[in-house]
Amino acid sequence: MLKCDFGNLRREIELLDRATSSVLHWDVMDGHFVPNLSYGALLIERVRPLTRALFDAHLMISDPARYLDDYIRAGCEIITFHIEAVPEPVELLRRIRQAGCLAGLAVNPKTPVSAVRSAVGECDNVLIMSVEPGFGGQAFIPGAIEKVAEARAMFGPEVLISIDGGIGPKTISEPAKAGVDLFVAGSSVFDLPDYGQAIQSMAALARSARNVS
Ligand code: ZN
Repeated sequence: MLKCDFGNLRREIELLDRATSSVLHWDVMDGHFVPNLSYGALLIERVRPLTRALFDAHLMISDPARYLDDYIRAGCEIITFHIEAVPEPVELLRRIRQAGCLAGLAVNPKTPVSAVRSAVGECDNVLIMSVEPGFGGQAFIPGAIEKVAEARAMFGPEVLISIDGGIGPKTISEPAKAGVDLFVAGSSVFDLPDYGQAIQSMAALARSARNVS
């Protein structure tokens, strides 16, 4: 949602509903873990009643444990924090699961997948960052593809593998082949006039890449 028109958020959410976007991914930045500041639980809570889409809170913040309850209360179904912020993640992952949410762990481009090994069996979503977190509109880092395959091998078939950053028609096929389930797309949806067409054409590319692999 980082790339949406915040002057018209209700309309954007309606358009995404019509475009059959199943998950809304909220990039939360604290100006500390990442240089930028975006929005927080209050905004997410206010727009929660506008759609039935799943809400995925991607917490790019230094102290997710402190603010976790706010995102649970806001109605997020998936809550993902960074291994770089919480190097011992198990306790926080368990708190998220105990609240009935899917627990996610994100890995920055420079962090090896081995850093999240302690989360095997404790986590529902592994988010591989394919750009440095903190800004929308960056170019896809190809090294992420290998990390997707590594994460899949480490966590097994039950865990969701997500990828975030620089995803568009030209970059979606390789990570799809490597086993990504959930693709976070910003500019490649919001920069086009028809969100539905943007989402459906990327989904078709991902499906066909996955089927031939
Ligand atoms: Zn994100």
